[in-house]
Amino acid sequence: ANSIFAAIPTTIFEEMSGLARAHGAVNLGQGFPDSNGPQPLREKAADAVLHGSGQYPPMPGLPELRAAVAAHYGRAQGLDLNPQGEITITSGATEALAAAFFALIEPGDEVVVFQPVYDAYLPLIRRAGGIPRLVRLSPPHWRLTRAMLEEAFTPRTRFVVLNNPINPAAVVVPDEDLALLAEFCVVHDAIAVCDEVWEQVVFDGLAHRPLMAFPGMRDRCVKVGSAGKIFGLTGWKVGWMCAAPPLTQALSRAHQYLTFTTPPNLQAAVAWGLENLGGWLAQMPHDLQRSRDRLSEGLRREGFAVLPCQGTYFLNIDLPASGVDEADRPFALRAVAQAGVAAIPVSALFEADPVTTILRLCFPKADQTLDAGVERLARAR
Ligand code: PMP
Ligand code: GLN
Repeated sequence: ANSIFAAIPTTIFEEMSGLARAHGAVNLGQGFPDSNGPQPLREKAADAVLHGSGQYPPMPGLPELRAAVAAHYGRAQGLDLNPQGEITITSGATEALAAAFFALIEPGDEVVVFQPVYDAYLPLIRRAGGIPRLVRLSPPHWRLTRAMLEEAFTPRTRFVVLNNPINPAAVVVPDEDLALLAEFCVVHDAIAVCDEVWEQVVFDGLAHRPLMAFPGMRDRCVKVGSAGKIFGLTGWKVGWMCAAPPLTQALSRAHQYLTFTTPPNLQAAVAWGLENLGGWLAQMPHDLQRSRDRLSEGLRREGFAVLPCQGTYFLNIDLPASGVDEADRPFALRAVAQAGVAAIPVSALFEADPVTTILRLCFPKADQTLDAGVERLARAR
């Protein structure tokens, strides 16, 4: 077999977690917290497993979860979404992305995609028949420019995929860049698939602005979110896609044959959490920011050069500026095998002309884990 999927190696996240397990390493690679989300949320889920229905919920998702998602985005981002006809619950953001690509892309459609690129996008876009047009963003600020977009957009451009905040870049895309992208989407009549799973994980008082809120974008965005990131329960795989009714209708046709539905007990718990855990949600970025700063300070003390981090679970190191002359991937492979610390080489999230100088570290971890990670990284250098 040599289909698009058969030819692809195991994703870098699983590769590095596998190596971390094999070497008993401190795992600062794959993005997940070492805590387990809010206790009351897990109790709600347990209660729903024990006492609620375990049978198929409605295909678009539990009505109370769709209503809770709409209300949450109203409060947090000023959006006005109709839970009936504009929101579809999916099994994680990953399913939402697959549904969006499979439902909307026609073979030969061009899709503007930014590098570094989240691992799932390109294989799914290609399997749907889309032709990715890659735009390369550069550290340390990863800004979009008019010249880049002018080169990438063509008369065949039908879609753009924007991850904001950006994994692995750990930046929040500034309003100026969002407005620029919105302008290109409107001029080219393109649909934006907005992967905003990191929207709640934003630091230093910065605010997340959904692309959907920009002029002309309300009805040409598919906004993708994930309870896994909102509540720090990455294995829960409860996500959603929000889009105007004609888009949602097509999206739900794909969803009904991808998974049809998502476990009802987890949906019920997430609905409850969005309605009742406002305090936890407000505190979460402060707690994560403290971990970010601990890792950042530890790394600096050891002479590592740290890039700005405005959001996500990730802090990036500039290797050459840290006195490492190896490229990111060989350094990461050596660090996990010889020094017992796993990280993600950011070059893995490029397809063409990779940035090979950056190592991504995941920081929502206990202080001792972060300290051990720093010590081991220093040993690897
Ligand atoms: N998109 C991005 C940018 C992500 O970082 C992640 C999670 N790592 C996902 C999508 C997938 O989210 P989920 O686990 O809800 O499928
Ligand atoms: N999004 C997570 C990360 O960036 C990984 C998700 C996965 O392993 N598929 O590390």
